[in-house]
Amino acid sequence: MSCSFFLSYLIHTKLMKQVMDLKPQDLSDRLKVVVRYIPKGSRIADIGSDHAKLPCYAVENDIVSYAVAGEVNQGPLASAKKNIQSRGLEHVISPKLGNGLEVLEEEEIDVVTIAGMGGPLIMNILEQGKARLGGVKRLVLQPNVACDHIRKWLYENGWSLDDEQILEEDGHIYEVVLATKERPPESAYTPSQLEKEMWLGPYLMKRKDQAFNMKWTKEKEQLTNVLEQLSKGEHTPALVEKKEKIKRYLSWLEEELQ
Ligand code: SAM
Repeated sequence: MSCSFFLSYLIHTKLMKQVMDLKPQDLSDRLKVVVRYIPKGSRIADIGSDHAKLPCYAVENDIVSYAVAGEVNQGPLASAKKNIQSRGLEHVISPKLGNGLEVLEEEEIDVVTIAGMGGPLIMNILEQGKARLGGVKRLVLQPNVACDHIRKWLYENGWSLDDEQILEEDGHIYEVVLATKERPPESAYTPSQLEKEMWLGPYLMKRKDQAFNMKWTKEKEQLTNVLEQLSKGEHTPALVEKKEKIKRYLSWLEEELQ
């Protein structure tokens, strides 16, 4: 056996061992809920992928056939590359540097996932990149806060909100929404009903899971305290308007949390 052959044999077996010793990609419950909304065989783009855990898990579990792991920052992109390479998944997961949906350029993608950011940031990413969503059939979005921004954007941009989940993990409550391209039939809601649904989530409101009750019971307490504080202030028009809004929200919570 020549020296170079022996060396390459050693490197190869060491690499193989690393790959074989590697545990399957672990995933938080929050991201597992996101993955459940991805149809088998999809081509996905995970925006703000960080370590690319979601794409790695989805590939290792035979859920997706191809994934882009999009990142705007070099540090997380390097972590994504490392994770993808150590699992030997370079042929099915492309780590890409880019702001939001820029990474969809020259890609054929069915499903876009965006998780673990605030609702307003996810909404901005969608708004800035909406011209690139032409071929995308599904959006699976998991904001850490302010999901109403996302529901409103979907409604105003011709996406149909098809399902929602709420879950508690490590003391935090997360909402996950699934949207598809088909425009829903024109809603017969009044603006106030619509505002209520955007805020609470139409599916979550009907199901009233334990996490839903926990989230909104806490929110009700906080809003009650804010209203009390505001009532001590001067009655400027802006303050009166703010108080009216909080009262309206509290009345919705009264209706829904029985
Ligand atoms: N998606 C993963 C999750 O849910 O666990 C990681 C979430 S991490 C808190 C947010 C990631 O989004 C960061 O790695 C950040 O660099 C990235 N990010 C923030 N804004 C972005 C943007 N406009 N485009 C792409 N990535 C972005």
